[in-house]
Amino acid sequence: MFATSLVLAALVAPSDPPRIVIEPRLLHLGNDSNDRFADVSRDPQGTRLESAFEATANAGEQLLIVRQRDVDDVWLVALNGTPLGELTRRREAVSRHLRVPQGVLRDGENRLTIEPRRVGDDVIVGSIELDPRPLFEALRLERVTVEVVDTRSGERLPSRIDLLRRGDVARPELFEIAAGLATRPGIAYTGNGTFAFALEPGVYDVVASRGMEWSEARAEIVLDGQGQTSLDLTLRREVETPGFIASDTHVHTLTYSGHGDSSVEERVVTIAAQGIELAVATDHNHHTEYRELQDAAGLGASFTSVIGNEVTTDAGHFTAFPFAKDAALPAFDHADYGKLVADMRGKGAEVVFLNHPRWPRIESSPFATFELNRISGEFGASAPEIAFDGIEVINANTLLDDGEYLLRDWFALLNAGHRIFAVASSDTHTVGEPVGMGRTYVAGADADPAAIDVDAVCAAYRAGNFSAAFGIFVATAVGDVGMGGTVAAGRDPLPLRVDVRRPSWVTPRRIVVYLNGVEVAQRRLDDSPGANSRRETIEIPPPRHDATLVAVAFGDGLDVPHWPTRVPYTLGIANPIFVDADGDGEFTSPRALAERTVAAANGAEALLAGLAALDDATAIQALAILRRDAAEATRTALEAFVAAGCDGREALLLFLAPNGSAR
Ligand SMILES: [Zn+2]
Ligand SMILES: [Zn+2]
Repeated sequence: MFATSLVLAALVAPSDPPRIVIEPRLLHLGNDSNDRFADVSRDPQGTRLESAFEATANAGEQLLIVRQRDVDDVWLVALNGTPLGELTRRREAVSRHLRVPQGVLRDGENRLTIEPRRVGDDVIVGSIELDPRPLFEALRLERVTVEVVDTRSGERLPSRIDLLRRGDVARPELFEIAAGLATRPGIAYTGNGTFAFALEPGVYDVVASRGMEWSEARAEIVLDGQGQTSLDLTLRREVETPGFIASDTHVHTLTYSGHGDSSVEERVVTIAAQGIELAVATDHNHHTEYRELQDAAGLGASFTSVIGNEVTTDAGHFTAFPFAKDAALPAFDHADYGKLVADMRGKGAEVVFLNHPRWPRIESSPFATFELNRISGEFGASAPEIAFDGIEVINANTLLDDGEYLLRDWFALLNAGHRIFAVASSDTHTVGEPVGMGRTYVAGADADPAAIDVDAVCAAYRAGNFSAAFGIFVATAVGDVGMGGTVAAGRDPLPLRVDVRRPSWVTPRRIVVYLNGVEVAQRRLDDSPGANSRRETIEIPPPRHDATLVAVAFGDGLDVPHWPTRVPYTLGIANPIFVDADGDGEFTSPRALAERTVAAANGAEALLAGLAALDDATAIQALAILRRDAAEATRTALEAFVAAGCDGREALLLFLAPNGSAR
């Protein structure tokens, strides 16, 4: 990778004026030995670089070129004490180009310094040259204009483009960038549909996109360093979502979170460019308001913004919204979930979600700390109060390789009687990671994205009338009862209507339907690219007891440049329709039903006799209650007794197995 860049950099035409070589070597700067740097030097060759070189005073702008790699922190570049800028914070090997303004060089000895803001970061820098021409001329830059328009209306679209240069692994640097764009190497977002910047000569693939409701458009441009190039690309809306608002409830900025790389000014552009209609600002323990910057950027009509907060505690992170701008910050200095959530609500929050419950690692996550039993949904001795409205089953920034892992956690919690819903969010901290890669589709009037009724949205979230999307839109209904609603079941199968929609660059493979977390139906989806929208009606056998009815669409992972999933799946999760099978007019959870059954059975023996009549989810809850209530000394005997009598039912045996709780 590094070698490629060096070769590219060395392609200097014979007519070019000679460059001054300031530092011919590559150097390891920093304070740590590192085998990864062995190709240059395993041990640091200094904590900073200071190079003296001979030159003459410059009457015009010149160009400093620094090859760099593994730069994570701020490194300052100065010439004769005049700051020229910073190295680019990037891991890949790239060339950093810095303008040397007129008069910075002097006749005779000159001094270049590269030093870290603070010691701690180890980098490779070197092969430093000074080109006597201004940047534009030295790099033979070419101005490029790209317009992205809606195929149907012809209107220009807030959108993103990705640029890849043939033969170069690293994303290309953009120069002379027009005001109002949010850019990183090889990535640009526009709020008004027009991009303008300059690029070095080369063959580029350009990919335009606008999130998961829109097509992608690809084109090639060949730049020879002369004249200018303009390109028109069109995007087509492929996923219609009337009655559902595309919402990202978890979005950060560097400005107010202190990490990542997206300023709040850049953030509002990236939100509009991904087709998000409702954005909740969730910086860590901070109330961020986008409104003013959104209006200043001309994006007031693109989306509704909400002040939220990622209440960040040692025991877990919560998304809470909405807040008034001057609302007091919720407490984040203790670990009592019940009190934390009550405090958030007391300060204005209508909706609270538990974020990335399996982060930073499964075994050191909040759910592990609280000893979640992944089969029964019970917690260990210090059970948290489940006072929040949902959990992030999909957090695009902290995805698990196993796409079903958090789904299983969630099913267990539903069966244990917690009325919490599945949420998807992006948790993006950077310009590159797309806003809305994880998103929710929440029921509501979406005709005017600038005038979304936030109170109504909050009510829909609390009612579970939304789905979680990671590339695939899913919505379900039985008759006129939608997600979060309760439907009465009789003896006939339930006709579950499942809408699956996706852009042409996403491939869904199957729909799986779960009753109380147990798979009851599966439907294969063909992958014909034209079928962006399909409606399946799946006959679900009427459940024995009240049950949650959940449909999930599974698809392939993506390696498209604008939405790389980094995991081998895409997903869409419809929140439960609650099935009232016993005709009492309301939903009773497996846990509540098990409580009643155990109370009525009067002892393990009687319960065992009745176990056959219970579905797996309810039977497991009954066994969990029995085990919880049994004295320590009799627990093993009880388990053996039940295991012998449970008729080989796999789910029950799994629960009773010694390691059952850990699975
Ligand atoms: Zn977090
Ligand atoms: Zn976050």
